This record gives sequence, structure tokens and C-alpha cells, in this order.
Amino acid sequence: MASAFAAKMTMSLRLYNTLSGVLEEFQPLVDNEVRIYTCGPTVYDYAHIGNFRTFVFQDILRRYLKYSGYTVRQVMNLTDVDDRTIQNSQAAGISLRDYTQKFIDAFLSDRDILGLEPPEIVVRATDCIPAMIQLVEALEQKRLTYRSDGSVYFRISAFPEYGKLSKINLSGNRAGARVDADEYQKDDARDFVLWKAAKPGEPSWESPFGPGRPGWHLECSAMALKYLGDTFDIHSGGVDLIFPHHENEIAQSEGATGKRFARFWLHAEHLIVNGEKMSKSLGNFYTLRDLLAQGHKPSAIRYLLASVPFHKPMNFTLDGLHQAQKSIERLRNFCFRLSSEKLPAGENPELAAKAGEARRSFEAALDNNLNAAEALAAIFVLISEANTALDQGKLQEANRQQCLQTIEQWDRIFAVVEDRDGSKLARIEADKLSSQPALQAEIPGRNGSPDALSDEEVERQISLRNAARRQGSYADSDRIRESLSQAGIVLEDTKAGTRWRRV
Ligand code: AMP
Ligand code: ZN
Repeated sequence: MASAFAAKMTMSLRLYNTLSGVLEEFQPLVDNEVRIYTCGPTVYDYAHIGNFRTFVFQDILRRYLKYSGYTVRQVMNLTDVDDRTIQNSQAAGISLRDYTQKFIDAFLSDRDILGLEPPEIVVRATDCIPAMIQLVEALEQKRLTYRSDGSVYFRISAFPEYGKLSKINLSGNRAGARVDADEYQKDDARDFVLWKAAKPGEPSWESPFGPGRPGWHLECSAMALKYLGDTFDIHSGGVDLIFPHHENEIAQSEGATGKRFARFWLHAEHLIVNGEKMSKSLGNFYTLRDLLAQGHKPSAIRYLLASVPFHKPMNFTLDGLHQAQKSIERLRNFCFRLSSEKLPAGENPELAAKAGEARRSFEAALDNNLNAAEALAAIFVLISEANTALDQGKLQEANRQQCLQTIEQWDRIFAVVEDRDGSKLARIEADKLSSQPALQAEIPGRNGSPDALSDEEVERQISLRNAARRQGSYADSDRIRESLSQAGIVLEDTKAGTRWRRV
């Protein structure tokens, strides 16, 4: 075991495995290295903070594994070819590579602003096409496929274990019925496409099956097998990926290798807004840039997204974000007070024990399926005890280091105390908004000319304001009203809804 392991006080990490449906004790398969595959973003647009809930959870996971003394080899793909990226790049009249590069760059800078550690390998799907072709060939040799109209399909009736992850009931399935779309529902489980025949105007690659492009599910299987081997430790994504994406990944990978693919499957529940999944298609989303431009801090966004255990849905509100900001201020103020106050010499054994206890509790919480809520609570218990002791002059010189060290250890995982909020990158991203007309329109009054707001933009702001009011975030709703007013838009709230006019 690596020497850092000695630093951890508790021992056994247990994780809820979607595949088995129970909490399982986690140990890496080989030596001390944890091999992880995480489904990365589909780079057809900016990632929203729902996506970042899942990415923050995966960051907490990798940081805690490292904290526990393991080394981590994490692979993240960038889905740069699928139905959505192709559609959007065609609509924009830009090559797929150039179109997706812009959103890859945006994703990587959002990732850095949120303090997400870079995975060891981050790779574009289109840079791995030969591995995808090889995987289809391997599946053809195992007679798990058929060809039709220039495309290759996976025959799910030939893979008896199909459904073991999503627990899908396949009775009533029609043999030979197939689906070409990348995304579909459980009740539409059919033979899925591995290699899609080239269509006029779409990007395509030569292959033994004819020109075409990979299906979305194939991409992840091929990249995981290429970089992590046939069997690896953890595969993860949001719950929306369980079916069909991850179910299909298992079928392709295990079908080809005959071996278990991922040992643990971890799925983050969704970030929801007013009872619905935050998503592009519902239009109820914030990007990181939206929130930065409204003055919210990266550390508060990270804290909020990390604060609910990953297996529970998380309701997003702007009030929650304000609370997160307050919690961080409390933490930082405490660290400042502790570092700067003059203390009596010696050690108060009671407080020494409390610092140790806080550490054991946050580790025990994280060992228990990464229970972030309890891990946060443990540190605030220590802060309030230590603050009381400081007020009473009972905190002594040796306790200073003990408390600070516990918080430092905790922050190796949560990464919110250290102040990155004023980082150059965060400022550049917030400022960039003011020079991008489409985004500028989302944040009226921010360095923009009042005339820049179209009717649709005003309507969008009004619906954001209404959402803020429904959540009781009156400071935010006032801010939106004020910025609209600066842009020359006056709002009037009536029983029939909000009316507006230009002045
Ligand atoms: P995508 O870019 O759509 O491929 O999604 C990237 C990641 O974000 C995947 O792991 C999704 O499961 C996850 N995701 C999408 N929407 C949400 C949401 N509202 N809450 C949490 N995770 C999400
Ligand atoms: Zn994937």
C-alpha cells in the first residue's frame, strides 16, 4: 500500500453497485490502482450544472480514492460524434471537429474553474475509430451482430444477460426489430446500431462494413477496453445512462471479451429543478457561465453540487447556492480566525480528541457510499465546537494545528476552502460572456447595449425570474428585474402573469 494510506484513519470503502443492487466493499482488482471509466460530455453545447453534478461526484470519488491511498487511472471520453453533435454542427455549417472543439475547450475550462481534477486520460471518440471498428469485428466473429442496409446491429437475443444492469424485462421483444437512434426508452429495447451506414452530408469513416460512423454506445465500450483493459474497477455516469447506454456497453464489451466488463457501476441521481431533470431539452438549465455572470462563486457551485449524496436526487435552487456560499464563508472565516488568533500555550486534550473525531466521522461518512452530506456536517460540528472553545479561551496552541489539519485533510476531497474563486480563468469565463452576443442576451444589462435584447431573450429572463420567485429566491428575482430595467424593459406582475414593455 502507498504510504499515504497510513494517513487515513478508517478503512473500508463501501459503494452502491447498480449492477448488484447492494452496497459492496470496494477493493481494486489489481494492486493499488483503481481503474475508472467515466462517460464524458457530449460536446454539442455547453455542459449545464446538472451535468456537473455528475462530474463533481466523480471528482469526489477520485479524490477520496487517492486520499485513501490508491492511485487512480481515470478515462473520460468526449462524445464528439453522435446524433446531436452532427445535427448541431450541420445547423451551424461548421465541420464536426471545429464545432466540437469549441465545446471541448469550454468544458475543460469549466472543469478547471470548478476544481475538478483532470482525469489521467481524456480522449475524443473520433480519435479512437480504429478501436471501435475492431470491436465490431470481434462481435461479428462471435455472431452477435447482423448487417442491414450498410449498418451493423447488435442482436440482443444472442446475449442472454442483456438487461442485467437496468433490470429490463425483455418479454414481448420482437426479434429483429432494431433502433438507429442513440437514445431511446426502456420500452423500446431493440437491437441497437453499432456502426451506422454513411448518410449524405454526414461525417463518415471507411471500415470493413462500408463507410459509416460509430453508434454512441460503441464508442465508450471501445475506449474503456482500449485504455483500461477487459475488466476494470468502476464505471460511472448519471442515472439516465443506465439504459440504454450502459446496458448496451455491457452487451458489446462482455459479448466481445467473454469477461466481466466493469466491476462496480455507480450512477449519480439527477439535479432537478421544480421536480424535473435539469436538461437542455426542457430549457430549465443553468450553465456554469450563467451562474458566474450572475456573480455566483465557483466554490459555492462546487460545494452545492457536492453537498447531497450522489444516490439522492438534488433539487437546485438559487437559495441553496446562497446557503452554500455562506457555508464556505463560515469555513474560511474559521480558518482565518484560527490561524491569526493568539492562543495560550499547551494542548486542550478534549479539543484534540474532537479534531480526531471530526476526521474519523468525515472518513466514515465517505466510506459509507460517499455520504457527502454527513462528511460536510462532521466538519461543521468541529467548527462550532472550536469556535466556542476560542470564545472561552480554551483552545490552545497545539489545537490550532490539529483543527487546521483536519480541515486541510477534508479539503483535499471537497476543495472549497482554498480560494480559487478569483482565479484568472474564472474571471476570463465570466468576462467572455459580455463579448458573446448569444450568452450576453441571457444576462441582460451586463455590459450589453439595452437594444441587444430580443423579445425571446426578454421572455427567457422573465421565466428565469419566475423560477427564482417560485423558489423564494427574491434577491435573484429582484436582480433580474433590475437588470431588465437597466436594459429598458419594464415588468408588470398581474394575475394573468408577468407583462413587459420597452421604455
Ligand atoms: P451528456 O453530455 O448528456 O452526455 O451528459 C454528461 C453527464 O451528465 C452524464 O453522466 C449524464 O448522465 C449526466 N447528466 C445529465 N443531466 C443530468 C442532471 N440533470 N443531473 C445529473 N447528471 C446529469
Ligand atoms: Zn459512455
